Amino acid sequence: MSSTGTGRTPFIAGNWKMNKTVSEAEEFIAALLPRVSSVQGVDVAVCPPYLDLQAMVDSTRGSRVQVYAQNMHHAADGAFTGEVSAPMLRELGVYGTIVGHSERRQYFGETDETVARRTEAALEHGLHVVACVGETEAEREAGQTEDVLRRQVSVLSADDSMVIAYEPVWAIGTGKTATPEIAQEAHAFIKSLIDAPVLYGGSVNLENAAELCALPDIDGALVGGASLHVESFAAICRAASHS
Ligand code: PEP
Repeated sequence: MSSTGTGRTPFIAGNWKMNKTVSEAEEFIAALLPRVSSVQGVDVAVCPPYLDLQAMVDSTRGSRVQVYAQNMHHAADGAFTGEVSAPMLRELGVYGTIVGHSERRQYFGETDETVARRTEAALEHGLHVVACVGETEAEREAGQTEDVLRRQVSVLSADDSMVIAYEPVWAIGTGKTATPEIAQEAHAFIKSLIDAPVLYGGSVNLENAAELCALPDIDGALVGGASLHVESFAAICRAASHS
């Protein structure tokens, strides 16, 4: 994300999760590039599965679209079957990586400590980072949202190459977007803890993107489901550019 004189440039990143083969990814990016080439005042990234990264780096070269991985191990190399390191991503020409997505925390045992180590390693190796935080529904209902966010953010240190993504777990893939009030309050709270841009994530779509991105403490969006369809993703990028 870059800064402008009057504020931050909104950043829209599409997290494809475990979707799109290489040929599907190539088809998507060929359709996306002409649709976003003239959209001003917004930074755009796609976060494909590892196997698509090389093709996406090649086909976005010279364009405005950055390529991020969805995860990364903290070690540079070693006996970590199934993992991928920062030097591997760097050599491919990948721009950055997501860390700490709630699905990694929920299904793959990621903890605040592993998220911190992955973040540090990514930044040390020159990758940009989207670090995800967010409370579960049970934590919100128990009044623990601020405690959870404080704990998750406390392991991260501000860095020009890092943005936070606030992704309430109850809003991810559920169609239950946080209300503008809930999102704004959480973003302002996160910004009281760390000096970093904060993206919103959780059922962002072309209907709600403009309103969310116009909120004072929302600096863009991490988009899951709606980033898989080129028309909706391009429309979200356009909506953010007007915010
Ligand atoms: C995500 O996975 O980061 C996400 C926000 O998903 P969705 O937009 O589908 O809720």
